[in-house]
Amino acid sequence: MILKDSLKSFHKVLDGLYDKVEIDSFFYLLVAKYYKVSRLDLAVQPDYQVKEYQKLFDALNLLKEEYPIQYILGETEFFGLTFQVNAHTLIPRPETEELTEIIIEKLKRSKKHLKILDIGTGSGCIAISLAKYLPNSKIYALDISKEALKLAQSNAELNNVKITLIEADILNSDTWDTEFKKQQFDVIVSNPPYIREKEKLLMKANVLDHEPHLALFINSENPFLFYESILEYAVHNLSSKGLLFFEINEYLGKEIMTLMRKYDFTQTELKQDLFKKDRMIIASM
Ligand code: GLN
Repeated sequence: MILKDSLKSFHKVLDGLYDKVEIDSFFYLLVAKYYKVSRLDLAVQPDYQVKEYQKLFDALNLLKEEYPIQYILGETEFFGLTFQVNAHTLIPRPETEELTEIIIEKLKRSKKHLKILDIGTGSGCIAISLAKYLPNSKIYALDISKEALKLAQSNAELNNVKITLIEADILNSDTWDTEFKKQQFDVIVSNPPYIREKEKLLMKANVLDHEPHLALFINSENPFLFYESILEYAVHNLSSKGLLFFEINEYLGKEIMTLMRKYDFTQTELKQDLFKKDRMIIASM
């Protein structure tokens, strides 16, 4: 079969569901992965043939079900690095890249060997990028999910960095070991679950039906639960000149800033993402 002909099938099945440019990009990403040929290769050799095309059509069926392309490929790019992803972890988002960039910019000139904790590490995207670009620091990555920690470890190996994994539930101090209870960190960062159940209506099926709800949602009754627990931990375990970085729900910036002041984080800075949405808070005491 001429490989490029199957692009027509992609459009036939997916047009209407996705943007045409996006469908082209899905096709070329899959072809690059499965057949090791690039878009340019196919432009130069438009009649390039393949014998086995079942996997391409399996992927097409998954896309039809709005299964995220990153899960189909099993990997994605974050901050110029490759990360494996699976259904146990959130797909890293561009706004989280912005948060990571802010952290690196703030800390890269530090002469200190910083100890940094990432709470709710998921695929490990924040922790591993920090380990890569702040090579003098020691990075700890915490998650409640064993499966997520397994993936974070394998992503650390893939990117040739060392991180220390901590399995614990930040909401429940009974799950913290004595070591974790007494650790002191220079920096704590978190992109905790922050979508309220009532915001589900605004979400697309590809996210809602396939990404882990544990990583996305919080109870609308108390949308600040994770922030409160992290602040409580930070009050005791962040060094005196330490910094706290949060990714936040765009609708809750003011409230989280107020909450932080209650925990004595008096210096707070709210930052917007590329889409001008309140998305990040940097704080210190
Ligand atoms: N730290 C990971 C990320 O930023 C996972 C976050 C989460 O699961 N809420 O993508």
